Amino acid sequence: MPDHTKRADPARENARADPAPADWSPETMRAALGRASEWTIDYRRRVGEFPVFPAVEPGQVRRALGDRPPRAPDPFERVLADFDEHIVSGLTHWNHPGFLAYFSSSTRAPSIVAELLIAAVGVNAMLWRTSPAATEVERTAVDWLRQAVGLPASFSGLILDTASTATFTALLAARELAGTRVRADGLPGGPALAVYTSEQSHSSVEKSALAAGLGHRSVRRIAVDEAFRMRPEALEAAITEDLARGVRPAMACATIGTTSTASVDPVEPLAAVARRYGVWLHVDAAYAGPAAMVPEQRGRFRGWEAADSIVLNPHKWLGTSLDCSVLLYRDVTPFRASLALTPTYLESEDDETDLMDIGLALGRRFRGLKLWMLFRCVGTDGLAGTMRRHIAMAEAAADRLAGGGVFELAAPVSFSTFCFRAASGGDPATEDHWNREILARVNAGGRSFISHTELGGRYVLRLSVGSIHTEERHLDEVLEALHRAADELSPGGPG
Ligand code: PLP
Repeated sequence: MPDHTKRADPARENARADPAPADWSPETMRAALGRASEWTIDYRRRVGEFPVFPAVEPGQVRRALGDRPPRAPDPFERVLADFDEHIVSGLTHWNHPGFLAYFSSSTRAPSIVAELLIAAVGVNAMLWRTSPAATEVERTAVDWLRQAVGLPASFSGLILDTASTATFTALLAARELAGTRVRADGLPGGPALAVYTSEQSHSSVEKSALAAGLGHRSVRRIAVDEAFRMRPEALEAAITEDLARGVRPAMACATIGTTSTASVDPVEPLAAVARRYGVWLHVDAAYAGPAAMVPEQRGRFRGWEAADSIVLNPHKWLGTSLDCSVLLYRDVTPFRASLALTPTYLESEDDETDLMDIGLALGRRFRGLKLWMLFRCVGTDGLAGTMRRHIAMAEAAADRLAGGGVFELAAPVSFSTFCFRAASGGDPATEDHWNREILARVNAGGRSFISHTELGGRYVLRLSVGSIHTEERHLDEVLEALHRAADELSPGGPG
């Protein structure tokens, strides 16, 4: 072996003598934590006073931060002041009670505290032995979620960063199971594969197919019915057509709570089709999944227990901070077959599950802690109660909006989400323009933030209730803003 022992070196001697402390003293940290926790509590109290969307020009925040890293440390007070002045003023406030866009979400207090503790212990849950409790807390929290949403004990799983990663991970497992030998041989020369998902499913399904090397052409966007639900007979037709052409179906993805309308695909008959042709069924319940905790919503999830994999995002509707996406599966074998790889330096003697074997990432945050703390500090009744309240608020707001004579619902209200459109019975393109302007006017007001989508080729507005901070009065406010904007911008002039 060569001799790697270093000789005496003046630069190294200097480095040893460098007096710069590696970290804050306990006193400095105590003071900073105190200020940060005061800031946090105060922010949550006043978040509704900010404009939801910030009044910043592109590049403004970067310019304020300066081009070069500081060589010397700044006192925390000054850093916090800059955070307030230049950064917070440039945030879109997802925790604002008027944030009703996309799938609105919020961070519950126990999850904020959990993030601090996660950073404090700073562990990596890649192997059981790299932090036994982190793996076991994660397994426990995931199993509590499974029980809370009524899935059988045959499902287990783990926490990933996002639903996009979860769906991609499931597709890699499905691709291996489709008999492609991609692990050994790679993609070229293998059979053509196809992925089936509805016209209304989230772009992450398509993106997963791109990332898995299946190509855009492998994605079959299956037709939906008048309520935006995937048609089982259309799925079956697409599968049989592919089989006849020698294309192998890799995965079918059903959605419970689609991104535009929160529609629910008929999972039971879709699962029957998937089973008939031996196709992996993945259920994307990223948004709506947690609502299976609400007893009167449970029926909307019928059939999902037949899936091979399911994704649900506690960071969307349950109140954990981003990132916390739970991937559940019935059999871990194809996941291991697709990606498990243990170099000598990561081998361990125990027989425990090493979560690095499922998915691409080696390093794994201790996300289980925030989900576990949420269950401990809120309880399943509390979590279900919040979602029930959101659903009731959305239903009441949709009724009022549709009853006002200007707006019509563009899809049935589903969970806590609805799509609508100002309609005058005139030219559809003029109406599209009107609705675009209404959205811009309402969002520019700074009190509410809604989003849009497209349904049947028409531009529609969209509202989703999902924040613990949102109350009836915030919905009153957005309805009033919508009516005012529709009136002032009406193609026929105000009034
Ligand atoms: N699936 C659905 C139905 C979604 O609506 C979204 C995002 O809104 C996703 C998946 C992707 O979620 P993530 O941001 O966790 O990747």
